[in-house]
Amino acid sequence: MTDDSNIYAVATPPGNGAIAIIRLSGENAIVVADRFFRSRNTAKQLVNQKTQSLHYGTITFKGEYLDEVLLSIFRAPHSYTGEDMVEIYCHGSLYIQQKIIQLLSGNGMRLAKPGEFTMRAFMNGKMDLSQAEAVADLIASESEASHRLAASQMRGGFSAAISKLRNELLQFTALVELELDFSEEDVEFADRRSMIEKIISIRELVDSLASSFRLGNAIKNGIPVVIAGRPNVGKSSLLNALLKEERAIVSSIPGTTRDYIEESVHIGGLLFRFIDTAGLRESDDTIESLGIERTLKKIDEAEVVIALAEASDSESYVHEFIESIRSKAGDSDKTIIIVANKTDVLPEYKEEMVLKSFANASDLPVLLISATNGTGIDDLKDMLLKSVDTGNLSAPQYIVTNARHYQALEETSASLGAVLTGFRNNIPTELITTDLRQAIYHLGEITGQITSDEILGEIFRNFCIGK
Ligand code: GDP
Repeated sequence: MTDDSNIYAVATPPGNGAIAIIRLSGENAIVVADRFFRSRNTAKQLVNQKTQSLHYGTITFKGEYLDEVLLSIFRAPHSYTGEDMVEIYCHGSLYIQQKIIQLLSGNGMRLAKPGEFTMRAFMNGKMDLSQAEAVADLIASESEASHRLAASQMRGGFSAAISKLRNELLQFTALVELELDFSEEDVEFADRRSMIEKIISIRELVDSLASSFRLGNAIKNGIPVVIAGRPNVGKSSLLNALLKEERAIVSSIPGTTRDYIEESVHIGGLLFRFIDTAGLRESDDTIESLGIERTLKKIDEAEVVIALAEASDSESYVHEFIESIRSKAGDSDKTIIIVANKTDVLPEYKEEMVLKSFANASDLPVLLISATNGTGIDDLKDMLLKSVDTGNLSAPQYIVTNARHYQALEETSASLGAVLTGFRNNIPTELITTDLRQAIYHLGEITGQITSDEILGEIFRNFCIGK
């Protein structure tokens, strides 16, 4: 996958900024930089400088002054990539950046591919694969929670947990295989019962990691929330109320199919993606008039459904509405919150009645709000936060955020399941060790102890250039 070529890339975003950073990595990085960098102290040569050192000077292009820069040197293996590295901090002008790049490519260096610096770091043993993937997640993280997960994965806690499981399985397999070597003598080095117990407990750990992916994925990509309700019930107004109180609006993405809009809001350190399907055609169809049909697909993808009705709606309407949402939601893990809107036009003495009639209509939690004057919006936010079980977030238990890791854990669990079945059915030990080896293989895929060029290519292609 890697070669020993010398690479460079602009590590800062494209365009004019105060400062731009150009990174160099490879055996010749320092020598090449030395050719066009003149230190303030003219006697100083970069090739003679220590690792982790910072230098101030000018860059000349064909003998002419180009820019005043700071330049840092990292010598192998004490660098991000594990190779000799130079970072040039120049002024952010595109012209200056281009000229420096010309100098580098004219000196036998080539532009790095996306993620190539991090891939070299992985290849040189500076980090394992799951840590390398966390670097990309950290760069992309948009909320406190996604940042925390990426940072923890980057620091290697998750890798260590996976490696520990893998080592346990390796020791275990070694014992079983030892028995095979002594098969003539019919010995058992490992007590079957305690072996089975051990495999069961490892498998439980693997399964609990795999099941954390649902939460991990939601945290990484934002928790999808659908606001369902018939036209004019106040879906857009509710969305606006949620957005208004939240200063850190992240983005507003028009849906790719143009039939919904998505707004992201940070609530309590988590990113929620509100999907609003309002403003679509109306129809006489009963389901459509409940406002379900058009949100159907979105309800399916959502973690949370806000079932929005008007406080003045009848018990039977609310009942029918909730039942139809439930039948579409299918998945029992989904949180459904019933919200009764427009309480501002309701006489106060009626609030108890509304709560009661809504509570009669289903067994779900009910909230009274007014999207117009903001009543109850904070309670709704609290309820949204509670709907996401983040209990694990601060505990030492790791949360899987990466689909590739999830897949590998699922396959590990399947192989361990086969091992257990094998033991229970007294299958010959040779066959059981094959499944054990499979489980070990899949765990190794996560940390990169087992990799293929194809997997590496896939992972690093999604990185930005310069990282
Ligand atoms: P949507 O079709 O479900 O998106 O509904 P809208 O948000 O467009 O609201 C429909 C109408 O109801 C608008 O005239 C809103 O001003 C009104 N509305 C929405 N929420 C409230 C509320 O809490 N109180 C009152 N009085 N009117 C509301």
